[in-house]
Amino acid sequence: MSYNKSAYTLGSKRSVIREIFEYSKARKAAIGYDKVFDFSLGNPSVEPPEEVTEAILSLTKELKPTLLHGYTSAQGDAAVRKAVADNIKNRFGVDISADYIYMTCGAAASLSIVLKALFDQGDECIVFAPFFTEYSVFIANAGGKIVVSEPENKTFQIDLADFTNRITEKTKAVIINSPNNPSGVVYTEETVRNVCEILKRKSREFGHEIYLISDEPYRELVYNGIFVPYIMNYYDSSIVCYSYSKSLSLPGERIGYIAVNPKMHESAEIYLAVCGAGRSLGYVCAPALFQQVVARCIDVKVKISPYKENRDLLYNNLTDFGFECVKPDGAFYLFVKSPDVDAVSFYEKAKKYELLIVPCDDFGVKGYVRIAYCVDKKTIVDSLPYFRKLAEDYKLIKQ
Ligand code: PLP
Repeated sequence: MSYNKSAYTLGSKRSVIREIFEYSKARKAAIGYDKVFDFSLGNPSVEPPEEVTEAILSLTKELKPTLLHGYTSAQGDAAVRKAVADNIKNRFGVDISADYIYMTCGAAASLSIVLKALFDQGDECIVFAPFFTEYSVFIANAGGKIVVSEPENKTFQIDLADFTNRITEKTKAVIINSPNNPSGVVYTEETVRNVCEILKRKSREFGHEIYLISDEPYRELVYNGIFVPYIMNYYDSSIVCYSYSKSLSLPGERIGYIAVNPKMHESAEIYLAVCGAGRSLGYVCAPALFQQVVARCIDVKVKISPYKENRDLLYNNLTDFGFECVKPDGAFYLFVKSPDVDAVSFYEKAKKYELLIVPCDDFGVKGYVRIAYCVDKKTIVDSLPYFRKLAEDYKLIKQ
């Protein structure tokens, strides 16, 4: 065999979400676009804000081609990094400069770089279930070992006792993702404080830093103004992996950043390790035009009212039909308990009603499915009679 076996395995085994998405395309072509209710993919359904479109148009006229399409510094354009740093300072009161910002191709690249920058072979990384499935790929690629911490039953907040027990001498980092994919749960400030206290205590006990990595592509997608704590204000050894994929509805443009907390021990060295990891992975010089676009739209956010409407419509109806799920405070996912023997059987039965939902066994929690409600409202309205039939099939509806 002349190729790398683990790369082959990853390439030949598509993620369950991608499988369903491909099935959806074929099914829609076969029976009609409106007949299939695809809730599989976290692709934003809300248009990018007008300011983004205007910025793209005006920048293409204003900027010289060298700035528009040329290489920037490997870590990103200096003025763009300053705009990001100033924004973090203004919003969260963190004293950070451009020297701690690294522009990337979205949160996936941010995470891959940060893990590579921190990890030595065999280091452990704790993730909180349910978790974004790609973490296991990124951690393995950095030579690390994934350790899954079980959530609190029903609320899907972090189970602090379970978390404490998972921390060992080998724990190098912890990834926190709030608002969470796939549960939509926002971790409370109390939970975050407790996680940080535990990490401080364990870092002292083991005599080395345990880093806290905050993966926050959904930070701006929260309902009723719920508070999402900014990790740097609670824990010094922290790094933020941010993305504009959902906050500006730009997932295909691949733009985001890494922010290294300047207060952490050896922060300048950690930042250089981030630069080195970016270099070794080939994640240098994030898309030039979109660096400029996000700098120009630094205070702009996508409209979240359509997501909230979808959440309310789907949550209220599904729970009325007898399905069980936690009410999400953020992101655009509903995490529904399978009324069947397992999540795959539930997924298969839903598929018979042309409802495409994602069995979540790979997300670290068995017996749940994810419904991505980042679709147009009509899809949800039209799907409700089928969800009702599905509930009737399981005898969930109380007569
Ligand atoms: N982290 C989480 C929790 C996600 O849900 C996603 C994408 O859906 C990513 C990271 C990757 O985001 P990006 O498109 O910015 O690479």
